[in-house]
Amino acid sequence: MNRDLQKLSAGTPTIVGFPFDAYSSFLHGAAGAPPVIRQAFTSPSSNLWTETGYDLNQPGRYADLGDEPLDQMLRCFICIEQTITHLLEHKLKPISLGGDHSITYPILRAFAKQHRPLTILHFDAHPDLYDEYEGNRYSHACPFARIMEEELCARLVQVGIRTLTDHTRAQIQRFGVEVIEMREFSRAFSLTFDTPVYISFDLDGLDPAFAPGVSHPEAGGFSTREALTILHSINAPILGADLVEFNPRRDSQGITAAACARLLKEIIGLMHRNETAYAR
Ligand code: MN
Ligand code: MN
Repeated sequence: MNRDLQKLSAGTPTIVGFPFDAYSSFLHGAAGAPPVIRQAFTSPSSNLWTETGYDLNQPGRYADLGDEPLDQMLRCFICIEQTITHLLEHKLKPISLGGDHSITYPILRAFAKQHRPLTILHFDAHPDLYDEYEGNRYSHACPFARIMEEELCARLVQVGIRTLTDHTRAQIQRFGVEVIEMREFSRAFSLTFDTPVYISFDLDGLDPAFAPGVSHPEAGGFSTREALTILHSINAPILGADLVEFNPRRDSQGITAAACARLLKEIIGLMHRNETAYAR
């Protein structure tokens, strides 16, 4: 950790990159995402205002700790968990830039140590609930199976899902996951939360037309606007988030990088808005 966290005030949205894609099952490249997201986030092609009216150029709106140097495999999970634990001990709101989706498991292990009931709002084409995938229980296809087994959240709500199998449907039943399948989605639907929220955003939850830079494109997903509408509707404090599975090697014209930058801006703005609007 290359910054003195003492200087950051409680509640500051704090970006940290985890350049890790060793547990991707198909293509690698997500490890290269954090610097590309930052570049789009701060690009002079746009500004740092959120749609909700926060100027992220103002001091204290967010912090960026850079990327966590990671080597490979299981020791990385320990490092990720320690990094997030450290941020939470300083009462910061971690926003993790992946990396593949496997990183969400060690992140949630850190959150669970806070002993606060938490709802995970998970955007994804895939439920990531496999008990194991190709022999790896820590694969990016498995993090939510580990999270539910260890009861690291009070509630898991999945949106954008469009790849269910008999096995993952059985896992949904087993763990009591709330799934809004993409085929059932309409813009009129609404979610309400009675605990603080953690957002886990897999970029392949968006339609490949809006986010081509992913390793597992699945047609028939959210537009960027539909995902933003869901995010803006969150009626509870947002304690943390991750943006995962952006694969810059697969991007086209920076479309996915721009989507990541917009999502990052809005999530930071919502952390501020909801801290005030839904303090509890
Ligand atoms: Mn995923
Ligand atoms: Mn996915």
